[in-house]
Amino acid sequence: MSENADTASSDQYDLWIDGAERPSGREERLTIVDPATESELAAVAMATADDVDNAVESAREAFESWHRRPPKDRTRVLTAIANAIREDKDRLARIETLENGKPFEESSGQVERCARHFEYYAGVTDKVQGESIPLSEEYVDYTVREPLGVTGHIVPWNTPIYLFARSVAPALAAGNAAVVKPAEETPLGALEVARIATEAGLPDGLINVVPGDGDEAGAALTGHPDVNSITFTGSGPTGTAVAKKAVENVTETHLELGGKSPNVVFADADWDAAIEGVLTGIFTNAGQVCSAGSRLLVQEDIHESFVAELIERTESLDVGPGIEDSDMGPLVSEDHLEKVTSYLEIGREEVGAPVTGGNRIDRDGYFVEPTIFDDVPMDTRIAQEEIFGPVLTVTTFADEDEAIELANDTDYGLAAGVYTENGGRAHRFAREVDAGQIYINEYYAGGNETPFGGFKQSGIGRENGIQAIDNYTQIKNVCANVARR
Ligand code: NAD
Repeated sequence: MSENADTASSDQYDLWIDGAERPSGREERLTIVDPATESELAAVAMATADDVDNAVESAREAFESWHRRPPKDRTRVLTAIANAIREDKDRLARIETLENGKPFEESSGQVERCARHFEYYAGVTDKVQGESIPLSEEYVDYTVREPLGVTGHIVPWNTPIYLFARSVAPALAAGNAAVVKPAEETPLGALEVARIATEAGLPDGLINVVPGDGDEAGAALTGHPDVNSITFTGSGPTGTAVAKKAVENVTETHLELGGKSPNVVFADADWDAAIEGVLTGIFTNAGQVCSAGSRLLVQEDIHESFVAELIERTESLDVGPGIEDSDMGPLVSEDHLEKVTSYLEIGREEVGAPVTGGNRIDRDGYFVEPTIFDDVPMDTRIAQEEIFGPVLTVTTFADEDEAIELANDTDYGLAAGVYTENGGRAHRFAREVDAGQIYINEYYAGGNETPFGGFKQSGIGRENGIQAIDNYTQIKNVCANVARR
């Protein structure tokens, strides 16, 4: 990592298979770029289908002994990993910021969430319980939850270190072995955490990391006949293609996809909480968050003054390199910058000039201004499509019924925020809105312990919390005839 020699293990990374770095069968490497400076950080090996085969083989072998070990052994190993991640927190946070662009403080929070995830599931290993089912006196019936075997994990670039842990930690806790395909833009965090886990005592082969192209490494993992499940986090089109391919081998898939989440402010809301929640909801990680509150719905009585304050606060945000701990960093890549700026043009055509922002920032790096479009009809592309950037649309509503109708006017259903001092209304909203997470009076409320996933086009299944264990176990029913003497 040329810019920050003290940060990464090296500026050349290989694959991580069977507890060690392994060269790839392919000469070409991924070039990892700092989105704040456009300079090269590292070159990373790209896994071929044969490399993925080796990783799956190594995982299968490791699984055979791991799942037979007493759960308390798995607790100790996962706890050691959590501790080791925390000890290395600053360096990992620098890596997250350098490869993804997010502000350093946000990266520190994500590294803590990564450590917390291993810690949380360390406490779950010995609570993966079955049930006893009453039949008649002739039978004794019980269920056991068994691990799946080798689990595949396909991770996006927007929160790489935490999203790596989000599915790998519960998979390991339940007794599986993992093969991870990180995003092309951000493989360094996963490679670093895999090394840290091995050094902390994780047996070889339990976490394998195969960076590379979606089309080659990702497809090889998805279509591998010896992989028992795929957890895919990313966009809808890729996710559905992955699920189709996996089902050919009858491989279970869990899909964590995109969103276009409403953030709804009633006139009786606590003003400061609502302003804070709207800004956090759209500008955290430059809007590159699946559950970003990208559609503000505001009650018409307060629309003018609320938007006026939002504009003022937005214009005071310090946009700059995440490593300088700015308020908002760059977008992750040049390709993504092009996508987001194309939506700025679409927005101009659909509703006219934004009330603030709307342009690329004239400096090195992939920076765009935090942007707000006001008076946006719900049938526009900027109100319906996931932009995945710092672009907020504002739409007004008259009353509670209209707020709920507009909130649900989307193909997605990942999250929804609501601000009101009326408790009954908040819970009616929670009941009526079709989304996997409802945030009341604080956007992104909840954490590692609370289930996360989408309704409608936002996905299938839930990560986080105790129920994520369901993704990584299968139920065996055992029924015995005890009547014969
Ligand atoms: P993407 O779908 O382009 O890529 C995601 C991953 O899939 C990458 O690792 C990529 O290499 C891999 N991939 C690409 N083609 C593949 C193929 N044919 N087979 C297997 N793997 C393949 O998504 P992205 O642009 O990296 O991420 C942004 C998207 O992720 C947004 O839509 C965002 O909302 C979503 N996301 C969802 C969640 C969630 O929890 N619901 C969390 C973060 C991001």
